[in-house]
Order: sequence, then structure tokens, then C-alpha cells
Amino acid sequence: MKLQIRNLSKTYSNGVKALDNLSLDIPTGMFGLLGPNGAGKSTLMRTIATLQEADSGSVFLAELDVLKNKMELRKVLGYLPQEFGVYPGATAFSLLNHLAVLKGVIKKSDRKELVNALLERVNLFEKRNKAVSSFSGGMRQRFGIAQALIGDPRLVIVDEPTAGLDPGERNRFYNLLSEIGEQVIVILSTHIVEDVRELCSNMAIINEGQLLYTGSPKDAMQALGGQIWEKTVDKPSLAAYQRAYQVISNKLVAGQPLIHVYSKTDPGNGFESVKASLEDVFFWEMSR
Ligand code: ADP
Repeated sequence: MKLQIRNLSKTYSNGVKALDNLSLDIPTGMFGLLGPNGAGKSTLMRTIATLQEADSGSVFLAELDVLKNKMELRKVLGYLPQEFGVYPGATAFSLLNHLAVLKGVIKKSDRKELVNALLERVNLFEKRNKAVSSFSGGMRQRFGIAQALIGDPRLVIVDEPTAGLDPGERNRFYNLLSEIGEQVIVILSTHIVEDVRELCSNMAIINEGQLLYTGSPKDAMQALGGQIWEKTVDKPSLAAYQRAYQVISNKLVAGQPLIHVYSKTDPGNGFESVKASLEDVFFWEMSR
């Protein structure tokens, strides 16, 4: 199965062009949608999830014309938004049970079985009678996955899921997503490069509503092989380096700028060749 996005455009009433003639194919598996804040990721996710309209373009999930058959899409969609509100005091069980009713699981005994199975799956069964509003960030995100999985979705959309999770919670969440990604299309929208490198077999980088790259993270890193060079420089000379070289990133390491430079040939001057990381790919695409 494949999600086919064609020539999607969206300009908000304030004149911001959030999607600019974007075309993209998303296959089964974990797909990372990477871009800086404001790139248009949420707009794209909400459009695919039929929560808002595009100005033009089309989205097909296999044969299904998503933008023309919103109800059909919603039946096969699991959506975990950036933040979801919960009724204060509602327990994990009661809230999932309620959401299952809304998703059309009518029979009470079926629903109980489904809700318990989902709670087991996301490792929250022991907490089923606790209020979701009292959950930690990681528990909430796992609860979010449980609600997104009601009704066996074929397409799961997860928007910025790991913000605010500690490393342990993030790992548990990663493992859960990877399991799901074996059978369905999971789109993971994030600005965290690490999330995509660890989890996704395919990815896209977008900025200003346009597609900069799509392919596998591995191919992207290989394509930059031998062209990334690194050097620790003095703070006062950083600006001069930025003028002289194609600096794609700089970060402070122990108080000193460590710069990464793109160059097809050895820039000399004490630069050392480093293996291109996905972060290099990201900054290189952004700098072009
Ligand atoms: P991302 O999810 O990558 O951070 P968004 O899709 O949220 O990007 O935003 C893309 C651009 O559209 C940004 O410049 C943002 O400020 C703008 N934008 C998003 N939603 C709206 C809205 N409802 N009205 C006006 N501008 C918006």
C-alpha cells in the first residue's frame, strides 16, 4: 500500500504558503517527515488526516481519494496529534472505551476486549483505572498510540511525538511505533533528526512547504560520503570560516565551536573528513 501526495498547496489567509506544490510517495513502514519548525509538517499531516482543506492537489491512499472521501479515510486512520486534551479524571479504560464507541465498536463485550488488548499492547493495563490526566508524558504518548490504534488503522499519523519524553520513555515509545510500522503506513512528523535515523526506513525533508529530499536515511547519508569535513575553531574566527567555507552547521563542544563544512574536495587547513550523519544531511539540505 502507498500514500500518494500530488501537487498539494495551501496558503493560509494571512498569506503564509505552508504547502507549495508538494508531491511525495509514502510506502508501508515507518516514514519520517523531517523539517524545521514552520516547515509545513503539521499542515501536511492535518490535510492528510482530513482535518483541514488544501487549496489544490490530491492525496490517494491506494485507490482511495482521501480529500474527496473524508469519512472513508477516517475509518482507516489513526491520528496522534501533538497534544490531545483529556477529560480531567477520566480513567485510561473509560476514555478508550468512549473513543471506541465513537469509532463504531458497538458491542460492549467486543469493546472491553479491544480496550484491554490495546492497554496491554502499550503497557498501560496496570494503570487502566488511573486518570489519564495524571499520566507522565511517556504514558500519555503511549495512551495516545492506544487510541490511535482503535479500529485497526491502515494509516497512522504521529505528530512530534517524542518532545518532552525522557530517554527511557522515548525508547519504549520507539519500540511500540516500530512494531506498528511493520504492517501499516506510519508517518512520523518531527524536527528531531535522531527519531528519524533510529526508526524510519524512508523519509522526506521539507522546508517552506517544499520537498527537499525523499529516500532512505541510509542513501541520504551515503550520498554525502566523503564530503563532510569537521574542525574545532576559535569563537572569534567563526565568522571568517563562515565566509570562506560552506559551513552547514556549528555547535559548541566544551565551549568551542565545532563546525561541519560541505566540500567535494579536501579543504585542507586542518579539516578532518567525517562520516556524514543524518544531521549533516538535514543541515546540508537546509543550506542549499
Ligand atoms: P510545522 O508543523 O512544520 O512547524 P506548520 O504546518 O505548523 O509547520 O506551519 C507552516 C507555516 O504555516 C508556518 O509559517 C506557520 O506559522 C503557518 N501556519 C500554520 N497554521 C496556520 C494558521 N492556522 N493560520 C496561519 N498560518 C498558519
